[in-house]
Amino acid sequence: MAFESLTERLNRAMKTITGQGKLTESNMDEMLREVRMSLLEADVNYQVVKDFVANVKEKALGQKVLDALNPGQMVVKIVKEELQQLLGNEDAQIHFNDNGITNIMMAGLQGTGKTTAAAKIARYLKNKKNKKALLVACDVIRPAAIEQLQTLGESIQVPVFTLGAETSALDTAKAADQYAKENGFDTVIYDTAGRLHIDEELMNELSMMKDFLHPQEILLTVDAMTGQDIVTVAREFNEQLQITALIVTKLDGDARGGGLLSVRSITNVPVLFVSNGEKVDDLEEFHPDRMAERILG
Ligand code: GDP
Repeated sequence: MAFESLTERLNRAMKTITGQGKLTESNMDEMLREVRMSLLEADVNYQVVKDFVANVKEKALGQKVLDALNPGQMVVKIVKEELQQLLGNEDAQIHFNDNGITNIMMAGLQGTGKTTAAAKIARYLKNKKNKKALLVACDVIRPAAIEQLQTLGESIQVPVFTLGAETSALDTAKAADQYAKENGFDTVIYDTAGRLHIDEELMNELSMMKDFLHPQEILLTVDAMTGQDIVTVAREFNEQLQITALIVTKLDGDARGGGLLSVRSITNVPVLFVSNGEKVDDLEEFHPDRMAERILG
């Protein structure tokens, strides 16, 4: 389970304070030290941790927690609020195009779960948002990516447009766009190529697709298991492509949580979905408040 050790440590930190009859500045400092250690051990970005602890302390002092009737509970509440703030205070939403087809472009490094996420989102849009969705296979680099998308498409009964691996991603996108218009699709999800590393070729291809499609959403998949790398990858993709939201994948693994907890405040890109398994229905809308609760256990 993701966050297991973070949850355990944070709980221990909270207990140092809720278990006390009286709260003093010194046992609050002790708790904050514990919180700080928990977050650092979970691989949360150093600056993010520093700000987090400072904010909790400031709020606690500002609200005169020390004099309160139930000071321990108040501090726990403040920690939860700060966690939520870190994860993004509001739920992110997909932006739909009111005057035509909504284009959603997937992006991400190879192996992060981009193709799987494309299908999961198509299923979500079809079942939960009543959309007539089309999947487009523009990952013409990775062998088997097209077939993988076709198999996924069949399993969720969403058609998959492809011109095969010999046609470029951009030409496939152009033909798919035409096809979608002629056949009454309202939401089109473009799977794109990933690479092992960010390189110029990848970014050029994605930029050309972006210029043609003017997508309402560019969704970047990042792998929770890669910790701080999430932040580095998101930052670079964002600089070059202006991504609109993130999908954090593989939260069913034992990710420590640092990437998810750092990425929003550092890149200012919201998390839209989290993915927690290989099956097509293993996708959840991301709610910062619920995630904060889950992390606090
Ligand atoms: P892509 O190269 O980014 O398109 O990645 P894929 O969609 O092919 O996914 C790579 C591997 O990760 C596949 O074996 C997927 O089944 C698996 N995968 C994708 N998302 C998740 C997830 O949320 N949890 C787990 N455990 N596996 C996932």
